[in-house]
Amino acid sequence: MRIRVGHLYPEYLNIYADRGNIAVLARRAALRGHELEVSPIGLGDAVEPGAHDLLYVGGGQDREQALVAPDLEEKGEAVRAAVDGGAALLAVCGGYQLLGRGYRGRDGSFMPGAGLFPHETVAGDTRMIGDVLLECELTPGSRQQLAGFENHAGRTVLDDGAEPLGRVVYGFGNDGRSGREGCRVARAVGTYLHGPLLPRNPWLADWLLAQALAHATGAHPPALEPLPDDLEREAFRVSASRARDRGGRG
Ligand code: GLN
Repeated sequence: MRIRVGHLYPEYLNIYADRGNIAVLARRAALRGHELEVSPIGLGDAVEPGAHDLLYVGGGQDREQALVAPDLEEKGEAVRAAVDGGAALLAVCGGYQLLGRGYRGRDGSFMPGAGLFPHETVAGDTRMIGDVLLECELTPGSRQQLAGFENHAGRTVLDDGAEPLGRVVYGFGNDGRSGREGCRVARAVGTYLHGPLLPRNPWLADWLLAQALAHATGAHPPALEPLPDDLEREAFRVSASRARDRGGRG
């Protein structure tokens, strides 16, 4: 299959090894005989619901976020329609904040968002920096751990009833208090975990690929053939033990 990926604002929201996440998706797809076709979606480009099996938004500083926020607000309806139609989505950090209703940055200005995730974010006086370990259950009955790194001033508060991506085991998470991290809506997930998120959490890469394939085929998410993942498991182990030893305390 061809898996069509729309990469939102690669030229602005592009810190923290974002391309690495896409490289992992491409490689893991190829090892199962699928091809990832990645197209950039920039300022002023239309998002056509149905045209992408997976949308990707990376992280950025407040300055870059301010540059894309009005455009993303305009794209909001199309992004919500794409996810309603079954497209998968991964949003990291600055992109995760802007896919909610909006983000009030360090200078007090409000950046509107796409309104996909039921949350709002306000920057605090301190940054929440450190390694993170989460417990997730994206598929009922299948618990998985996710390890990563967070670095954000924004505190994200989920609406009542909103589904987080996971429960914080070590680290700060959305706001340093709630014990919740990220957000999930249908096949869309947003998270503060950046840096090489997918290389050390291959189960999440495969979950996203399976969701994207389900969108492409109209069938259920397929079970993907397992890969050896020895290095990936080791990377996860190192990252998870760092989170245990020195992750931020919420
Ligand atoms: N500028 C945002 C914050 O500090 C997001 C930072 C990021 O993407 N790491 O909260």
